[in-house]
Order: sequence, then C-alpha cells, then structure tokens
Amino acid sequence: MSVTEYDVIIIGAGVAGLTAGAFLAGRGFKVALVTSGEPTACLSTGCIDVCSRDHNPLLGIKELPPAHPFHLVPEQTIRESLNNFQAAMMDMGIPYAGALTENRFVLSALGTFKTSCLVPSTMKAAPQDTKDSIHIISFRGLKDFYPSYIISRRKNTKFSVYDAGVSSTMGIASHFEEKEFLESFIVWLKGQNIDEDKIAFPAVLGLESAAEIVKTIATRVGKPVFEIPTIPPSMPGRRLFNALKDYFRKKGGTIYWAWPVVGIEKAGRLIEAVVTQSEGRPNSLNARAFILATGSFVGGGLVAGRETITENIFNLPVHVPGPRETWFDNDYFSFNHGIGKAGIMVDSSLRPAGTPWENIFVCGGILADTEILKNGCGHGLAMATAHVAAKSCMEYIR
Ligand SMILES: Cc1cc2nc3c(=O)[nH]c(=O)nc-3n(C[C@H](O)[C@H](O)[C@H](O)COP(=O)(O)OP(=O)(O)OC[C@H]3O[C@@H](n4cnc5c(N)ncnc54)[C@H](O)[C@@H]3O)c2cc1C
Repeated sequence: MSVTEYDVIIIGAGVAGLTAGAFLAGRGFKVALVTSGEPTACLSTGCIDVCSRDHNPLLGIKELPPAHPFHLVPEQTIRESLNNFQAAMMDMGIPYAGALTENRFVLSALGTFKTSCLVPSTMKAAPQDTKDSIHIISFRGLKDFYPSYIISRRKNTKFSVYDAGVSSTMGIASHFEEKEFLESFIVWLKGQNIDEDKIAFPAVLGLESAAEIVKTIATRVGKPVFEIPTIPPSMPGRRLFNALKDYFRKKGGTIYWAWPVVGIEKAGRLIEAVVTQSEGRPNSLNARAFILATGSFVGGGLVAGRETITENIFNLPVHVPGPRETWFDNDYFSFNHGIGKAGIMVDSSLRPAGTPWENIFVCGGILADTEILKNGCGHGLAMATAHVAAKSCMEYIR
C-alpha cells in the first residue's frame, strides 16, 4: 500500500465537500478530496435552495424543527457561506443573482414556479408572476423539453423551434460555445420578429460561457432572455459542479477522481487514513482530520437495506426514522416521506454524535433531520454546514 499525507481529507465531491475543501485549501491547508464520482449537483437545477418555508429564507430557517441541522449554523456563517459562494462563482465566470433575505421564482419546464434563493444569472430574468408574455425557443428533436407544458399553464406564451443540427442537451450546449453557430442563431432569432416581453430557452445556452451567451443574445435582440432548467443531464447543474471543482483546484486542493473509499485505518479515538479502491490496488490516504460529505441516498453516503440504513465508510450510527412502514408516504409525490429524516446526528462542531472519533466532521445531505425536499434547503444547507465543518476542522488541527 502507498501512503500520502494531508492535513485534511474530504470524502465526496458535492457542493458540501467542494465548499469545505476550498475553504480549507484557501487558508493554506494541504487538502485532498476523494470521490467515487459526480455529485447530485449534476442532477439539480443549479439553483441554490436555502429554505423555501418563507419568502425570506432566513425567517424560514427559524421556523424549521429544532432538530434541523441549520440550527447548528450561526446566521453569520450562513451569510458568509453564501457571500463566499457568490464571490467564487463570479470569479469562475458563472455569476449568481439573488440575496439571502429573499426567495425568488424560477420557471420550471412544466410551467410551474420553483422557489429558490440564488439563481444562475442566466435565469435572473425569469418572470416572477404570470403577467409577462413569453416567447419560448425550443430545438428540433430535443426530447427533454416540451414548450406545450408551459403554454398550457401560461397565457401570453408562444414558441418557435430552431434546428441546431443536433438534438441532445449537451450537443446543443456545445454548439452555442462556437462563435459562428451563435452568430447564425442570433440572425435567425432576430428574423422571428418576436413581440413578447421576454425570450425563454431550455438551459442549453453553452457549457461554461452561458452567462456571456445569454448577455450577448439579450443585447442583440433587445429583450430580456432567460434559461429554463431541464431534466438531467442538467447543464446549469453541471456548470455549478465544474465551477466549484475548478475553484477548489485553483485554491490548491487535489482531487482523487473515481477513487471510492472502501475502508479506514484507525488508532484509539483517531481515524488515521482512508483506504481507496483505485487503479486495481488499494491506496491508503493519510490525514490529520477527515470531512465526510458523501451525501444522502442518491449521493451514496447512506444505504438502505430492508430494515436498516447504514453509513458504510466509518460505520457511523445512522438516525433511522422509525420502522420501515413509516419511511414513505403513500403519495409518491409527497414532500413528507419520513426517509428524508435519515442521516448522521452531530454535535455543534459537526462531529458525529455517539461515537469516539475526534477527527471526523460531517456536512451536507448526509446529516440527519434535513428533509431537504420538504424544506427546500439542498445546496444552501450543504454550503452552510460545509463552512461549520471546515472551521471545526481548522480549530481541531491547530
Ligand atoms: C434530482 C435532485 C435534484 C436536486 N435539485 C436541487 C436544486 O435544484 N437546488 C438545490 O439547492 N438542491 C437540489 N437538490 C439537493 C442537493 O443536490 C443536495 O441536497 C446537496 O447538493 C447535497 O450535496 P452533498 O455535497 O452533501 O452530497 P452529494 O451531492 O450527494 O455528493 C456526494 C458525493 O460523495 C461521493 N461519494 C459517495 N460515496 C462515496 C465513497 N464511498 N467514496 C468516495 N466518494 C463517495 C459521491 O460520488 C458524490 O461526489 C437536488 C437533489 C436531487 C437528488
């Protein structure tokens, strides 16, 4: 086995792991991030939900049940985490609009409104009510987006279809990165003589330059333009992930990609190393502290069996919300599935409760009692708890 030494090893490349990693690497710590693969951010809209319980997310957080992990994060740290995020994304060329004190609406591909706190600048011009008339541009053959869903819910909405020569989300987004393609598209768009107040697109306007592309189109046609998030593969979700990943590397962090953690080495109250399965042989990565950010069930941090739910890296105790029959609501689309409460319980420094470990900190979707769907608190909670975990980790190491 080979041995490498770090100050901190983070497990998981989601919003939580990458945020904690950038925080620590930016303060001079030697940080490695180990991940089995892509995070749930790639499935998401790319919008940062903080808390959808109230129009003001900060007031919404105050209404959360006492066990919710947001109550372990001082308000100042919530503000700091979102400010840091907006500054980092500006630096990486994917600016975010919005403020922590006000939720806003994002038009969904079904014509409904999703509530979120910070949105990519490409969605900033989305209507906040039903008054604005909208012209939707769709793309020939694109299977992930049907303007008729939106038109059936909104009066004052029309659509046109452009033939981009390819029909996949990724293919169209790549084309928009080409100057010639963008130019001929704008010529076509101007020729449509659109009367409506705003022009909407499925979120395919570029891979990493979407903010600039939206600005260029809006300036050239003289109307507000915005993207509508689509189902996975979600371009805004991928843009978010890529920007966070690049930012972490820019701060000096190292990523071990496709290296799932399969075991640990321990001594007394300390974890000494994680063992990863990589390139056909185990590698032991050694550090002074560890941050667990492996997400919930979709991310792979929690695994549900018939009767129990487990965390399989450190074998931490998992809070299970009662017997299996209480895990799910009969209504599939309900926000009240009890399983949303499953996760790791922690103390105020985000160390796992009821364990001897001094040098593990836990953050993000793997925490207990989050009920992320019900409370609309996905990426925002991941960022805020990542800041707390990183600060606790820093104090511990010092
Ligand atoms: C379909 C979907 C859509 C969503 N949309 C939104 C949205 O629009 N806005 C919003 O705010 N929130 C959204 N959420 C919620 C949000 O994605 C999560 O709450 C949040 O991003 C959790 O981040 P995380 O970093 O804790 O974990 P995750 O994003 O789950 O990342 C976990 C990481 O850990 C890695 N990992 C797991 N096991 C191991 C292992 N053994 N070894 C090494 N690495 C491992 C995974 O590969 C992954 O990189 C959505 C969630 C889903 C499922």
